[in-house]
Amino acid sequence: MAMKIDPDECISCGACEPECPTNSIKPTLLAYAIDAATCTECAGEYKKPQCVTLCPIDDCITLLST
Ligand code: SF4
Ligand code: SF4
Repeated sequence: MAMKIDPDECISCGACEPECPTNSIKPTLLAYAIDAATCTECAGEYKKPQCVTLCPIDDCITLLST
């Protein structure tokens, strides 16, 4: 299970990147992106995904659908 950033919504503010406990968020040419292989949805770290809490854009970061 992992979270996903919508590149059409992300404004590349960078607020999420340093706060990710698994270092799963990185900038790309288009927007920031989450590595689904390492994102834990902040299990054991925070009650809610920290990136979602910090992102200023509603619905920018959502559950990755598989
Ligand atoms: S949900 Fe947590 S672990 Fe996953 S990218 Fe966001 S801050 Fe990082
Ligand atoms: S906090 Fe939200 S808008 Fe800012 S870089 Fe991260 S995903 Fe993009």
